[in-house]
Amino acid sequence: MAITELAELAEILKLTDEEKSWNPEGPDTLPLLISDDIKDLLDNPAIRRQFVPSAEENNDDEGNPDPQEEAKHSGTERLVHRYTNRAAFKTTDRCFAYCRHCFRRRFTGHLSGPASEAEIREAAEYIAKHREIREVLLTGGDFFTLSDSHIDMLLSIFRSTCPSVILRLCTRAVAVYPERFTENLMAIIRKHRDGAPMFLMTQFNHPAELTDKAIKAVAGFVDMGIPAFNQSVLLKGVNDDEDTLIELSDKLLMARIKPYYLFQGDPVKGTKHLRVDIERGLEIEKNLRRSLSGLGMPQYTADLPRGGGKVILTHSYLEGKTEKDGRIRYIFTTPEGETRSYPD
Ligand code: SF4
Repeated sequence: MAITELAELAEILKLTDEEKSWNPEGPDTLPLLISDDIKDLLDNPAIRRQFVPSAEENNDDEGNPDPQEEAKHSGTERLVHRYTNRAAFKTTDRCFAYCRHCFRRRFTGHLSGPASEAEIREAAEYIAKHREIREVLLTGGDFFTLSDSHIDMLLSIFRSTCPSVILRLCTRAVAVYPERFTENLMAIIRKHRDGAPMFLMTQFNHPAELTDKAIKAVAGFVDMGIPAFNQSVLLKGVNDDEDTLIELSDKLLMARIKPYYLFQGDPVKGTKHLRVDIERGLEIEKNLRRSLSGLGMPQYTADLPRGGGKVILTHSYLEGKTEKDGRIRYIFTTPEGETRSYPD
């Protein structure tokens, strides 16, 4: 994006001086794109911080453009095969709005465009040959930025080439552009629904994102038997407080979306100002566990660098063990801070 375009946007988005000083041509940056639905929410600082760039993005000299080393784990040009039993297919680099915390910003919005039919066939054939792959994430970018006919073609190829593979439809579009889920699109999804299960993987980071339109869009999937799971990112100044996350969890459950992950922000270059210290993250996790049911509790998780995989970050309630007369008892601290012993 040219600086002149940014100047024009400054008026529309009411950019602050700090926001205006973001350099769109800085290294490893991500384009600015905000959907109308998100524009309507920009008065909320938690939404603004996720979508309006800050000069702080240009001042991150610590992060890595690809901490997960996805480039090293590519099965095909667009297929990341980092874990034995699942793979991620980057269907496109486009999204309806670009999140400033995007962990894949070295790929997102860089104009590589939608995967071609040949690339889709190549990925589906790779998956069919690697029978250990049980799940495929249709991701990007955002899968639902593809046209209806492209989605139909992609799902037809995957369903015919690797029919027993579970498909995860990964999208932020239900939050940022819920109008995308038209009757025609939902009819296409319904056409390919039978067979191996499909799951809708959403990303809602703040309760304000769960608008009536967003909830309706998710309901379209749940009503046709596609369960919805939410993957939030823990973000400084957005949702790094217990009350916000409890409200988010309550709203997700009421919308029939299971809060699944609360990700520690990856150390991606340009996102340092949005990351929360793990110590504070663990404190939040501990406090959430006191307030939320198992159904409402997301797993606080870090994706370890260099393809190390996901680990759950949680407070340990096991303090140790004692042995008396040959009987072992484990010593626990309850979430309320009391001590209990538990017979082996
Ligand atoms: S929707 Fe996903 S891929 Fe797109 S910018 Fe946001 S986090 Fe990145």
